[in-house]
Amino acid sequence: MPPFAQAILAWYERNARRLPWRGHPDPYAVWLSEIMLQQTRVETVIPYFHNWLKKFPTLASLAAAPQQAALAAWEGLGYYSRARNFQRAAQIIVSDYAGQIPKTAEELIRLPGIGRYTAAAIASIAFGQDIATLDGNLKRIFARVFDVTDPIDTPAGEKKLWQLAENHLPPGRAGDYNQALMDLGASVCLPRSPLCPQCPLESLCEARAFGLQAERPVRTPKKPVPQKYKLAAVLLSQGKTLLNQRPANGLLGGLWEFPAAEVTSDSAEACAAALQTAYRLKVTPRTRLPAIRHAYSHFTLTETPWRCDLLCLPPDSPLQWIPLADLPAYPMGKVDRAIANQLTAT
Ligand code: SF4
Repeated sequence: MPPFAQAILAWYERNARRLPWRGHPDPYAVWLSEIMLQQTRVETVIPYFHNWLKKFPTLASLAAAPQQAALAAWEGLGYYSRARNFQRAAQIIVSDYAGQIPKTAEELIRLPGIGRYTAAAIASIAFGQDIATLDGNLKRIFARVFDVTDPIDTPAGEKKLWQLAENHLPPGRAGDYNQALMDLGASVCLPRSPLCPQCPLESLCEARAFGLQAERPVRTPKKPVPQKYKLAAVLLSQGKTLLNQRPANGLLGGLWEFPAAEVTSDSAEACAAALQTAYRLKVTPRTRLPAIRHAYSHFTLTETPWRCDLLCLPPDSPLQWIPLADLPAYPMGKVDRAIANQLTAT
């Protein structure tokens, strides 16, 4: 066995994290954990993981559930396409695979929401396939240990890192090897201030030998994150508020929101004009409520809600009056949930 794999497996035997999906007999639970862990920290995922399995204990129950129920159970985790794709994949497995999750990465990758990393993680952990995987933590480890100077977010850098992960894979132990590296990246080979004296790879690590830990991995410089401004209308009538359901696909797809429009100026006039253009909604803005700021992956949003009087709602408007008491059952992104909470708190 390569010394790299030997060192990491010996460390894993003593230091594996106890996580609710580790050793879980159901591949559906392993798959769920891998989808939830994309872009999200383990501590955040654990309560969502338990709650999800209570609501949708089997793949068949998820496939049969309304999309709104799946989105509501996902609310707060962000990146909602993960929930939509997971449910869509569950439906495909029920209809095309007689309810049996495919066992190989080559088949798994054909399902919605499963890329190369997730397919290999599920196949190695749940089904014991001999296949390497590579997430952000693993990229950092390989870039440091083997002093990879290509930026890790370029095709050349990625190719090199996948090759390194594959070259050191111990046959028959892929699941443990992949999870050991995930754990090492999460607890020892940290992005800032890696704990090298505690690392089982210290004697093999080139970045450690040359004092280059802080410079590895190399990344291409990031562009500045754009800032967007929106105004949202809060319209109340007889204990109800007017909401819009976003289109099924795209950012926050299928979630509910207060009617809002992008603006360049935060004034009552701008609010009225923007809502008329976006929704053919005629309103008189009355009171500005506290603005909400949220960082998405590609931009930062500042959204200011305005309490408005409604002058005209076109009869064919897609907007719907929703009772305030029912708002918790309507899945929303963080910004709209914060507005909803402002209303229900008053
Ligand atoms: S020795 Fe340090 S930099 Fe190298 S893999 Fe271990 S923790 Fe990371």
